[in-house]
Amino acid sequence: MAEPLHEDSVIRALAWNPHQSQDDYYSIVANSWKQLLAADITLLYLFAEETSSFLLAGASDREGGFEWVRSIRGTDERVLQAALRGFVEDQQPGRTVLYWPLSTPGAGAIALIVAEKSEPFAAAAIAKARRYAQTTASSLQHARMLTRLASTLAAERDQAQRMNAILQTLTLGVIALDAHGRVRESNPAAYELLGLTGTRRSRHPWEQLVSELPPRSLETFSGCILSALNGVRRRDEFTSPDGRPVCVDAIPFAGGAILVLEDLGPRLEQERELARVKRLAEIGQMTAAIAHELRNPLTSIRGAAQMITSERRLKKAREWAEVVLEEVADLERLCNEFLDFARPVEVAPEEVNLAELIEEVLAHDEPYLRQAGIRVSYRRGKRKPIIMGDPVRLSQAVRNLIRNAVEAMPEGGCLTVSVTKSPKGVRVRIADEGEGMTEEQLSHLFTPFYTTKANGTGLGLCNVKKTVEAHRGSMSVESRRGKGTTVTMIFPGGTT
Ligand code: ADP
Ligand code: MG
Repeated sequence: MAEPLHEDSVIRALAWNPHQSQDDYYSIVANSWKQLLAADITLLYLFAEETSSFLLAGASDREGGFEWVRSIRGTDERVLQAALRGFVEDQQPGRTVLYWPLSTPGAGAIALIVAEKSEPFAAAAIAKARRYAQTTASSLQHARMLTRLASTLAAERDQAQRMNAILQTLTLGVIALDAHGRVRESNPAAYELLGLTGTRRSRHPWEQLVSELPPRSLETFSGCILSALNGVRRRDEFTSPDGRPVCVDAIPFAGGAILVLEDLGPRLEQERELARVKRLAEIGQMTAAIAHELRNPLTSIRGAAQMITSERRLKKAREWAEVVLEEVADLERLCNEFLDFARPVEVAPEEVNLAELIEEVLAHDEPYLRQAGIRVSYRRGKRKPIIMGDPVRLSQAVRNLIRNAVEAMPEGGCLTVSVTKSPKGVRVRIADEGEGMTEEQLSHLFTPFYTTKANGTGLGLCNVKKTVEAHRGSMSVESRRGKGTTVTMIFPGGTT
């Protein structure tokens, strides 16, 4: 027998509370309707849009065995009839089944009550059900919305927790500032890079972040934060209180800013290591090249020396000795180029008159040039082109360029050399009318060991460039295949 109905208790029961499980709630709804209708059993079905059918969600307590279906199609004859009339009673001998759709004004039929009784339902029970249909529908609707909201919130909380776990373990420092410049999120790495220890109140003003920084760093870091808070991203570097280089990227975000801090120490260390490895590889390559280059001349030296030991006449011996001297000179040049490449340039600066220096080189090389059939066109400004530099390294550089020019004109030709004043300092130009270079050749020009010559080292231009850079000068090469090549060097300095 159904208990006497207390309508208040039904209303109270229908109001969903978020601590209840959804299944419990649906059973409570089914039980309340069982009481309202004085039914033997009441089932609650909820409309599922995906399948356009009502799915069983809860059942009232029951005595005896009942059979029920798990889902009822939205197009079921009884459902359609019930929708038209408010409810429908299916009377069979000894058994009446009541179908009662629950609708809300906005969403239509969101649920279906199916109640069963061994005798027809009383008119009073139907009247009560009519009164409660809408309240039940809205309560169900609320419950649905609230559970959805709760699960969304739970998912968000979950995500925030995951984010936080990632933040905590990140080696990058991350700080999020709100629109008022207060710290909303941060991780230990960030505080560590800023030299801050101990816990801090959350939402403290950003000014507390810079309290430990040395003055220059404070200025840089604060500048980045202010820039980002004003909507402009800024990256810069500063020094942490314990002397580490730190890169800060201040990114405007949602009216506030996100600061990403990276300890550059490990990266710089890696770069240094990489440079060292590269250098070692170059030296290895160089050693192999030296051995290779030394073998041929050594063979001729040995040959010539053997001839000298067996030669009695002085004239012949002198000829062999000349071969020895020539080969030794070649080897010396080779060794010098390798050594220049391997050693860093240390400029011992003194006043150098570049015009005089070039004239000396030309005078020294005169026999060599003449023998190669080279005519020299030399031009210099009236004033003395004085720069601060290392005369030995500078002479070597000029000699290297002259040698390249000569080697580019195997049939002889004109070598044009000039020293003039330029807005940036003193300009030295060495031009030939030789074979020139292709684009491809030009692109490899300063690659160590790049050579197109049978006995070249491919280090000459690298060494010239090193010398020019050590003098804080600049250098450029223009060349056209079949026309010739012009090398221009500009050194900071003046004329007097
Ligand atoms: P090397 O003279 O030992 O080959 P360099 O570094 O002096 O090494 O020159 C590298 C290469 O650049 C040369 O082999 C040559 O192909 C090209 N090159 C340099 N100077 C000239 C030039 N004046 N004319 C044409 N090619 C040149
Ligand atoms: Mg050369």
